[in-house]
Amino acid sequence: MANSTATVAGVEISTDHWIDGRRVSSSERFENLSPVDGSHLANVASGGKPEVDQAVDAARRAFPAWAALGPEGRLPYLKRFADGIRARAKDLAAVETMDNGSLMAGNLHRVVPRAAQNIEFFADWALTLQGHVIDSPEVTNHIHYDPSGVAALITPWNAPLMLTTWKVGPALAAGNTLVVKPPEWAPMTCSLMADIAHEAGIPAGVLNVVQGIGELAGDALVNHGDLNRISFTGSTGTAQIIGQAAARSITPMSSELGGKSPFIVCADADLDAAAQTVAGQYMNAGQVCLAGTRVLVEKSIEAVFLAKVRDAASHMVVGDPRDSSTRVGPLITREHFDRVAGFVERAKADGAEALWGGSPANFGDLYFQPTLFTHVDPAWEIAQQEVFGPVLTWQTFESDDEVIAVANGTKYGLAGVLFSQNEARAMRIASQVVAGTLWVNCFFVRDLAVPFGGSRNSGIGREGGSWSFDFYSDIKNISVRKGSFSDKVA
Ligand code: NAD
Repeated sequence: MANSTATVAGVEISTDHWIDGRRVSSSERFENLSPVDGSHLANVASGGKPEVDQAVDAARRAFPAWAALGPEGRLPYLKRFADGIRARAKDLAAVETMDNGSLMAGNLHRVVPRAAQNIEFFADWALTLQGHVIDSPEVTNHIHYDPSGVAALITPWNAPLMLTTWKVGPALAAGNTLVVKPPEWAPMTCSLMADIAHEAGIPAGVLNVVQGIGELAGDALVNHGDLNRISFTGSTGTAQIIGQAAARSITPMSSELGGKSPFIVCADADLDAAAQTVAGQYMNAGQVCLAGTRVLVEKSIEAVFLAKVRDAASHMVVGDPRDSSTRVGPLITREHFDRVAGFVERAKADGAEALWGGSPANFGDLYFQPTLFTHVDPAWEIAQQEVFGPVLTWQTFESDDEVIAVANGTKYGLAGVLFSQNEARAMRIASQVVAGTLWVNCFFVRDLAVPFGGSRNSGIGREGGSWSFDFYSDIKNISVRKGSFSDKVA
């Protein structure tokens, strides 16, 4: 079957799988439309069990040699991979924008550099894993971080390049070989990523990409039965399905899931900085797992703070994500747009009042106005469920105990934001909010060395820094009785 390509934002991209160092086609295809303008981008190969079997088999065969290279041997490949990502920054940024509607400027200046850093940072970190020894009275314990084998990596559409490289980097650096299943709503940059890895000399079979629909290709992958790791980022519901497959084959699984994070503003906060940061929650049209979508404001400053947020939000211009003045781009698909609009209509029916927004934007087909709901009961759907659109709720509090209870009053525990200039108070509240990450007087600052993940329904496990290697490695202790070697000279 002839290999297929598409031209997106002037960039020619393969629409096929990447398996065992070559392009593999499928007769089944799925259509990929751009959320920016509804244009047809590509008919992408829709994989299933045959392609997954080929990819896992290729990864299994490539594993021994890749693992045997060790962290130092893998380093030059991964450095070249990171350099290749940087070299194609403009292409990757433009393609990601057309594919998932994220802002072009953000992709160019933040996302693509971060994608390269995801590869490079973990390649460097892997060098520190060697030679870990723990001395005990009778034995010497040699702690080894062995590559685990074949890792399946499954990622969502809201930041495909960033989120995929965040898994690819540590998984490869730890010596694993990979099968990546990109998101069907934004599959294009993962295809480019495979080309860049190939150009960097990464051997055939080390990094495989199987394109396809979650319920087909993704399902075949997680049910393959001979995987060593499954790393998943996506919705809680999908994690529940994948978790059952992982349990059947006893495959370690890491999951980074949805959120409904609190954004707490105390009366002693820098209100200007807090207001700007609240408006920033509309970034990526609210399609951000970490977004602090429940704004919880101390009652005594409600009026003055609301005026500041209203002003900051008025600058969140809705428009074409390729335009540098745009702050809020489109929602990803018609299906997702209808889902977001459904949440908004039900919130209104429950009695919430939209202080601004609350309806589609006067631009394009898939653009929704930044929205703020007040008069929200914490028990309502709009305050409990992840909307994944540009929709915030506004509630007030009068005591720290009250805000901690409301902050913790959902099934999620991914992140939180807190603004206060009183350190003792800030740390007291922060320490009691259930979240994988709690930002104090800042937002979205993510050092790759720190743990990242969610509690409760927001995920299982942590990745980042050493936590990534704990997950992507088989950690082994070789425990040697002291003085038990007769061939030892000294
Ligand atoms: P999703 O769960 O629908 O899909 C995620 C991925 O899983 C896609 O690649 C999809 O094809 C695949 N998939 C779907 N069904 C599958 C199945 N049965 N077996 C195997 N794979 C399957 O999520 P989405 O709509 O793409 O992404 C949005 C969600 O992701 C939101 O809940 C968001 O909060 C979450 N998210 C979390 C983080 C994080 O780091 N915690 C980051 C980004 C997004």
